[in-house]
Amino acid sequence: MMQPVGTSRSILVVGAGIGGITAALEAAETGKVVILIEKRPFIGGRITQLYKYFPKLCHPTCGLEINQRRIKANPRLKILTQAEVEQVTGTSGAYTVTVRLAPRYVNERCTACGDYADAVEARFADDLDYRMGERKGAYLPYAMAYPPRYVIDPRIIATHDAERAKDACRYDAIDLEMREERIDIQAGAIIWATGWRPYDAARIHPYGYSDNPNVVTSVELERMMDPRGPTGGRLVHPSDGKEINSVAFVQCAGRRSMQPGHLPYCSGSCCAASIKQALYFKDANPRAETTVLYTDLRVPGARGEDFYRSAQDRGVTFSKGVVREVSTGNDGLEVKLQDKLLDQESVLRPELVVLATGLVPNAGIDPDAAAVSNDDGDAPKGVEVGFESVLNLNYCQGTDLPQLVHGFADSHFICFPYETRLCARHPGALPGLGQHDLDHRCAQRGLRRRDADGLPQG
Ligand SMILES: Cc1cc2nc3c(=O)[nH]c(=O)nc-3n(C[C@H](O)[C@H](O)[C@H](O)COP(=O)(O)OP(=O)(O)OC[C@H]3O[C@@H](n4cnc5c(N)ncnc54)[C@H](O)[C@@H]3O)c2cc1C
Ligand code: SF4
Ligand code: SF4
Repeated sequence: MMQPVGTSRSILVVGAGIGGITAALEAAETGKVVILIEKRPFIGGRITQLYKYFPKLCHPTCGLEINQRRIKANPRLKILTQAEVEQVTGTSGAYTVTVRLAPRYVNERCTACGDYADAVEARFADDLDYRMGERKGAYLPYAMAYPPRYVIDPRIIATHDAERAKDACRYDAIDLEMREERIDIQAGAIIWATGWRPYDAARIHPYGYSDNPNVVTSVELERMMDPRGPTGGRLVHPSDGKEINSVAFVQCAGRRSMQPGHLPYCSGSCCAASIKQALYFKDANPRAETTVLYTDLRVPGARGEDFYRSAQDRGVTFSKGVVREVSTGNDGLEVKLQDKLLDQESVLRPELVVLATGLVPNAGIDPDAAAVSNDDGDAPKGVEVGFESVLNLNYCQGTDLPQLVHGFADSHFICFPYETRLCARHPGALPGLGQHDLDHRCAQRGLRRRDADGLPQG
């Protein structure tokens, strides 16, 4: 095992999406030592899989590049990729975290030259493209990946492909002997920023996701828009590659409902995401019939309302209705809905249906438990908490996405008091308190007393 990393004054951030990166950078830039761990081979999280970013409709690579520059400029921030927490012991102010590091089989000497592209033949479904496309067994996750280093898929280890890749590398950057490792990280506070995953559209039975390739999810559409994605950035029918002339977005797909296979809560961001995606269609083909089917359109704030109106101005139709079913008729897709404004049943025949399936949190709440039990025909169990959170921040433990209280990254305002509690750091600096009082206070909080250098006593 490698030497322990960090001290009780360090902050550990788990998950390097935009949330984790922001928290880590803001903490490091105030002088804290921060260790940011990420289970994928690159940082950036889900936004690396988005084409554009609302509300400004810029490319996420722009914001990522700025953050990458801040990361490179900050020696207090250490990043570990392919890393996952295995165990947390201790208490707030004094955690020991065991982290498992998966082998990358490529070391720091890698220049990301890609010279071995032809040497490796094996191909696998690409998770970055939500498995709509493929990548090679040795790959750079995406063009701007950080760290800018290739990865060897463990499935080609001990095959000719791995040996050929090693022979093709001129920089001695491939180490096929790398093995899984464990390290202990000392940290005074932990920020859990493990983000979300898309809800499984196949569970929403009446919406035809598993039956018709022209029913896609909103995350898949983001990949279809990307010039490096599975359709080369062209908005074409997944079924036959022809240009799309009409599209319907189904909001709250599998959401805000107690039906079997649905989740009860609002994801908060998928209305804005669909407006953004409707504009993708209008940008590509202003004549494309673009309809958003919603029961409530949730784009709070002045910017959200402006964004919504800008899409109306561009000719996007917003229709209030409950979608009953998406099926395949003789002439293609049929969307049956109850129109809430006209109070009548209607049918729409778009060439593509996009399901706004929303976000499922990766930690804390376990909404899948509710959905699975419903599939078995049991009464809905409601949302369950999967495990105790490290810091139980009540304000963001609900099912809805938390809104930042002060409009800026407030996570370090939450964790700093934990990390810097006087008892944990400078017991001797408390005026008027004797040794007995200090020991008593530390014991009350489950902490080991520390000397002025932060080292544990006793
Ligand atoms: C279709 C769609 C379009 C969207 N478009 C926009 C947009 O235009 N503008 C906008 O502002 N928002 C948009 N969003 C929302 C945006 O994607 C999220 O707000 C953002 O990804 C949240 O970032 P995050 O860091 O919290 O989580 P994530 O991006 O999910 O990052 C979490 C990270 O934690 C890692 N991780 C998970 N578990 C572990 C573990 N156990 N150990 C270590 N690491 C772990 C993950 O690999 C990941 O890298 C969109 C969402 C959807 C669904
Ligand atoms: S491992 Fe070697 S060949 Fe492959 S990208 Fe890195 S430096 Fe180039
Ligand atoms: S953000 Fe919109 S589409 Fe998403 S769950 Fe909430 S209301 Fe439905």
